[in-house]
Amino acid sequence: MTQRIEAAWLADPRLRSILKALGTDGEEARVVGGAVRNHLLGRPITDVDIATTAEPQAVIARAQAAGFKAVPTGIAHGTVTVVADERPFEVTTLRRDHETDGRHAKVIFGRDWKADAERRDFTVNALYCDAEGEILDLVGGLADIETRTLRFIGDAAARIEEDYLRILRFYRFFAWYGDGRPDAEGLRATVRLKDGLSRLSAERVWAELRKLLAAPDPSRALLWMRQSGVLTQVLPESEKWGIDAIHPLARAEAELGWPADPLLRLMAIVPPDGARMGALAKRLRFSNVDRDRLTAWALSEAPNAETTDAALRRLLYYGDRQALIDRLRLALAAERGRGTVEGSAASARLFTLLAHAERFEKPELPVSGEDLVRAGLQPGPDFGAALRRLETAYVDSGFALDRDALLEKL
Ligand code: ATP
Ligand code: MG
Repeated sequence: MTQRIEAAWLADPRLRSILKALGTDGEEARVVGGAVRNHLLGRPITDVDIATTAEPQAVIARAQAAGFKAVPTGIAHGTVTVVADERPFEVTTLRRDHETDGRHAKVIFGRDWKADAERRDFTVNALYCDAEGEILDLVGGLADIETRTLRFIGDAAARIEEDYLRILRFYRFFAWYGDGRPDAEGLRATVRLKDGLSRLSAERVWAELRKLLAAPDPSRALLWMRQSGVLTQVLPESEKWGIDAIHPLARAEAELGWPADPLLRLMAIVPPDGARMGALAKRLRFSNVDRDRLTAWALSEAPNAETTDAALRRLLYYGDRQALIDRLRLALAAERGRGTVEGSAASARLFTLLAHAERFEKPELPVSGEDLVRAGLQPGPDFGAALRRLETAYVDSGFALDRDALLEKL
């Protein structure tokens, strides 16, 4: 089976000149991995990775001679980032891995395309194409693209034992590109070897899980992860809570034009418990932004279809806007998922509340402590109470009362 790719991304002059610079004088260079896979699957291409026989120092020299910037981003495992007109390309020297210990590999550079293909994880990730678009398939990736089968290259269990992250990559790529049931051998191997996930660094686990949760609809992948025990292994918080909310959420996102939001999907499958969410964020080494959003959500009050405009205003003014948006989106997605007639009124109401929350910008209270002093109030225990009373009046007025009207109320 030969196939040729014709595509705008492959015709990009920057890519062409890098391939040309690397692929002359006895060396070869090809595009590999996600770009080829996504193109064949009809999915958008994000980044373009390149594989070459040239060794890293030669890659740097050739890139620079062609007028590009070369950054040694991962020299030890053979990766140089070549930047052409602001656009980065990861260039990795052909290699085979040895002495894998479940997390790291020592690498040997080589000139053997087959060996390079075989050290990759899945057949669909080991397709190459040259500057003319000619595909090189050394491990049966094309056939698996046809059937959307995610298959380990070689023996699934052995490949997982080299790098346990591949368990999560199996479900991640299945979530994005798989069809039907996951490959039986791969599935069995993940069940048997899932304990090895505990050896991985938290950062790698969460980075992979986050990408999985960003798939258009990760619900089937999560279901298989749950059945295999992998989900409980990495996310015990989801155990009692269940993952049923994921599919309606993915549908609501698609139908209402919300972005596919990995953190919101996470919230849909874990309990809104401040302490447990704090611990989860710590365990998986979340960024501060992710951690704060998750805990704010867990600690926030939950508006529902009965929440009045005034009550929502109070929640927004005193609370965390993003947390309320998260709460409302989850509630709306769940309500739409139930699909009952009574539910449609509730959905409409939640939709309105959500629109309010999304538009909300917290206004500044138009009176200050100094205003109160000027109005003759003595600092003391009543002082703070008076200020808070004015604030309540301001919020309840829908932020309509101005400074004079508020001072009048003193
Ligand atoms: P995307 O960038 O869309 O996430 P990708 O296929 O480019 O998908 P990367 O994680 O960027 O995935 O990795 C690039 C390539 O490197 C993969 O296609 C695969 O061939 C190989 N690869 C990456 N991580 C591993 C791993 N843990 N084990 C084996 N091969 C891997
Ligand atoms: Mg990539």
